[in-house]
Amino acid sequence: MAHTPKDEHDLTVVADMWSPACTAIRTFLARNEIACRWLQPTESTGRQLLEQHGFTADDTPVLFKADGSSLKPADEEQLAQWVGLHAKPSSDNYDLLIVGGGPAGMAAALYGASEGLHTVLLERWAIGGQAGLSSSIQNYLGFPDGISGSDLTDRARKQACKFGAELVISLQADHLRPTDHGFAVHCTDDITVHARSVIIATGATFRTLDIPSVDKFNGRGVFYFSALTEAPLCAGSDVYIVGGANSAGQAAVYFASCARKVIMLVRADSLAVEMSTYLIKQIEGIPAIEVRTDVEVVDASGGTHLEHLTLRDRTTGAVEEVPANWLFAFIGAEPATDWLDPSFARDSHGYLLTGPDITTVEGSHSPWPLKRPPLHLETTVPGVFAAGDVRAFNGHRVAAAVGEGSMAVMLVHKFLHD
Ligand SMILES: Cc1cc2nc3c(=O)[nH]c(=O)nc-3n(C[C@H](O)[C@H](O)[C@H](O)COP(=O)(O)OP(=O)(O)OC[C@H]3O[C@@H](n4cnc5c(N)ncnc54)[C@H](O)[C@@H]3O)c2cc1C
Repeated sequence: MAHTPKDEHDLTVVADMWSPACTAIRTFLARNEIACRWLQPTESTGRQLLEQHGFTADDTPVLFKADGSSLKPADEEQLAQWVGLHAKPSSDNYDLLIVGGGPAGMAAALYGASEGLHTVLLERWAIGGQAGLSSSIQNYLGFPDGISGSDLTDRARKQACKFGAELVISLQADHLRPTDHGFAVHCTDDITVHARSVIIATGATFRTLDIPSVDKFNGRGVFYFSALTEAPLCAGSDVYIVGGANSAGQAAVYFASCARKVIMLVRADSLAVEMSTYLIKQIEGIPAIEVRTDVEVVDASGGTHLEHLTLRDRTTGAVEEVPANWLFAFIGAEPATDWLDPSFARDSHGYLLTGPDITTVEGSHSPWPLKRPPLHLETTVPGVFAAGDVRAFNGHRVAAAVGEGSMAVMLVHKFLHD
């Protein structure tokens, strides 16, 4: 395995701060806990570094390691390999294969490996899942003062690796099929991994605002579900947050510590519709946060970066344009199940049906195929289990995902030994 940069002296990135490619790299490195130094191609140190290695500003983003090597990354997989993250499984056959590295998948990896199963986990992006994006998780057992998503992720990663779980980053599962001896999961880059059992923990993917004039500024003032990586850039500015659930509330509290002012734009008529009471009280106590209800974003404009937003009052229909350089949207998520074929029964929103829900939820076209009843978290494909936010009727909480991930391993043992 290549040497992974440990501090900002090991890795330098020369990139235009406002380019979407730069945002993607910044987020990838931050989510994978890789520190680095950032230089603009327009400043002399950045320009010199590029020239020394035969690059120009047009080649950026370019990454440089202290050992003299450099990379103009073609994609995330190449970047992951180059910075020393594990990007290929070491074997092609396992007892347990977990897809998804959020809290559910990490709990499954930890329990699977610690209980003697040869375990591999495939994650398409970065370990931590949605929880890794949280600035402060206050309601997870054992952390009375809260814990950041990145800290929790780091602890989980160390703990799972200590027991021998193999974590493979930058590998996306795109098909799962039963075989004579278990299952085959086909991934990007034509890699196929076989296992006797599978836990699907692919969670949910955030929704976007879907307004073309706003989408144009993705990574250039408009961001989704990211607060931790961008916060240092908006110190002293006004920050707009779209959304009224806990994730939006946490982001507002987080940004209030560095922004001049935080304006929450909420479509509902009150925060109480979706947000936990403890968080509403916290927000009420922070003067730098203004909550605007019954309001939505309808337009955006600017040059190389977001400059203005147009807001509409949903009650009166009145429209106003406000100066804005930063918009962070936290507007819900959809289950990451589109890579699975129809033999996996889902509810009407696409979440996987498991256990007793398979027979009680209407509209499922993929019935349970065996005489024995499904085990509690088992999907309609016997031997494939689902845990966490990807599952119908899930708890949308870290604790629920961790609980289900651990419980799924107990059920895997039962499936393998019966
Ligand atoms: C900003 C934010 C703050 C939150 N704060 C809290 C909080 O304070 N308390 C709380 O209890 N909950 C909180 N939540 C909710 C909590 O994070 C989720 O309920 C939890 O992360 C769900 O875990 P999961 O493992 O089921 O799924 P996820 O966390 O969604 O993880 C799924 C993982 O699977 C990967 N994946 C998806 N498809 C594939 C594929 N085909 N191949 C490989 N990998 C794939 C994804 O990249 C992702 O890493 C918050 C959520 C957000 C977004």
